[in-house]
Amino acid sequence: MTWQNWAGTASADPARRYWPHSTEEIAEAILAAAGAGLTVRALGSGHSFTPVGVTSGAALDISGLSGIVAADLESGLVTVRAGTTIRELNAALGTLGLAMPNLGDIDAQTISGAISTGTHGTGARLAGIAAAVAGLDLVLADGSVISCSAGKNPDLFAAARVSLGALGVISTVTLACVPAFTLAADERPMRLEEVLARFDEFAAGNEHFEFYWFPYGKNALVKRNNRIAGKSGGPQPMPAWRRFLEYEVMENAAFGALCRTGRRVPRLIKPLNRLAAATLSKRSYSAPSHEVFVTPRRVRFVESEYAVPRQNVLGVLAELRAGVPRLADPVMFPVEVRVAAADDVWLSTGYERENAYVAIHQFTGLPYQEYFRLFESVAAAAGGRPHWGKMHTRDADYFRQVYPRFADFLRVRDEMDPERRFANPYLEQVLGA
Ligand SMILES: Cc1cc2nc3c(=O)[nH]c(=O)nc-3n(C[C@H](O)[C@H](O)[C@H](O)COP(=O)(O)OP(=O)(O)OC[C@H]3O[C@@H](n4cnc5c(N)ncnc54)[C@H](O)[C@@H]3O)c2cc1C
Repeated sequence: MTWQNWAGTASADPARRYWPHSTEEIAEAILAAAGAGLTVRALGSGHSFTPVGVTSGAALDISGLSGIVAADLESGLVTVRAGTTIRELNAALGTLGLAMPNLGDIDAQTISGAISTGTHGTGARLAGIAAAVAGLDLVLADGSVISCSAGKNPDLFAAARVSLGALGVISTVTLACVPAFTLAADERPMRLEEVLARFDEFAAGNEHFEFYWFPYGKNALVKRNNRIAGKSGGPQPMPAWRRFLEYEVMENAAFGALCRTGRRVPRLIKPLNRLAAATLSKRSYSAPSHEVFVTPRRVRFVESEYAVPRQNVLGVLAELRAGVPRLADPVMFPVEVRVAAADDVWLSTGYERENAYVAIHQFTGLPYQEYFRLFESVAAAAGGRPHWGKMHTRDADYFRQVYPRFADFLRVRDEMDPERRFANPYLEQVLGA
C-alpha cells in the first residue's frame, strides 16, 4: 500500500512494513531489513511536508509503540514510547498533573517525529520541543540499544534530539515536563503596521506571541498567551458553541470554502483574502495549556518555514510584502510569524540563536512554486535555517554554513550508522551521502 504524507507532497512504496510494539521488536525489524539489504525508516504520523519520511526499503510503523513507560512527579521527568502522539501525551500528562512547557499548533505528530525534525511552538524565552528532551533510547543498525542524556553519551545526545531519523530508530523519549498550567489566550486583529512596530515589545512581553498575516489584508491576527498566575479563578473556557463557531466554522469550514472558491476562480483570491482578514474577531478565554496551543487544521495546505535571526525578521517580512503582490499566482493562506529561544541541539533551527520563525502556506492545488522560491531566497539571504519537516530546497553545502556543529553531526552519524542503514534521498540532499 502506498504511503502518503498529510499534505500529499511525498509518497512512497516501502518494500516491507513492520509494526513493532517494543524496543526488541524494533531491533528485530532492523536486523530483518538489513538481512534483506534494505534501508530502514520509522514512520511517524506523516505530518512532515518534506520527503524526510520516504523510504523504498523497510518502513517501521511505530503507531503501536505508545504510552508512558515511567513518570517521576517530583522531577517532572516522564519517559514515553516513541510513537506516542502529542495528543496522547497531553492527555496522559494531564492525569499526572503535568504538561509540556511549550507545543506547536497541532497534536497529531508522534513525539519522536516531532523532535526528529525540530518541531517548535512560540515564546521568546522557550525553545523547541527537542529542548525539553532529557534523554532518549535509540536502536542502532546492528540492533543494539544506546541511551543518551546530558550526562551519558553527551555528543550523541546533542545530535540525536533533532536527527531526521539518520542515526537509528528512537524507542523511548524522556521529557522534562512542568506542573500543569492554565493559559489565558488573547487573540485579536490588529493593524499589521502596529504589530511590526511593536514586534520586540510583544515578543518580550508575552510568554507566547505569534501573528498571522493575510498577504493582501491590512490586518494581522495577533495571539498572545500567558500563564494565569496563582489561583485567579481557574480556567474560563470559551463556550463550546463559540469554540465550534470560531475554530471549526471560521478557521476550517468557512475558510476551506473560501479557499475552494479561490482555487476555482483565482482572480477572487485577493478579495477573498482581504475578506478573511477583515472578518477576524477578538477572542479571549483561558484553558489548560495544551488546549490553547493546539488548534484543529482540517484545510490542507503546503508550507515552508525558515528560522531567521530575530533581528532580521522585519527585513524578511518587508521583502515578502514587497514581493507577494508581484507574483503571477496569488496567495490564499496567511503567513505565520513566531519566536523561540536558543537551544544547544546541533541540528535544531534554534542552535545557539534566538530566532523568529516565518512560515508561508498555500492552499493545496494552487500554484506555490514561485512564492516559495521568492521566500527561500529572502530567508536564506537573512541567514535562515529551514524547518527540516517543511518544504525547502537547501542542501548539505548550505547547512554546513548555517549550522556550526554540522561536521560534528556527520561524525556522530558515521559512528552510529557507518553503512547508512537509515539513509533516504532526502538525507542525501541535506546531509550528503
Ligand atoms: C497541519 C500541520 C501543522 C504543523 N504545525 C507545526 C508547528 O506548529 N510547529 C512545527 O515546528 N512544526 C509543525 N508541523 C510540522 C510537524 O510538526 C513535523 O513535520 C513533524 O516531524 C511531524 O511529526 P510526525 O510524527 O508526523 O513525523 P513524520 O513526518 O512521520 O516523520 C518525521 C521524521 O521523523 C522520523 N521519525 C519518526 N519517528 C522516529 C523514530 N522513532 N526514530 C527515528 N526517527 C523517527 C521519520 O523517519 C521522519 O524522518 C506541522 C505540520 C502539519 C501538517
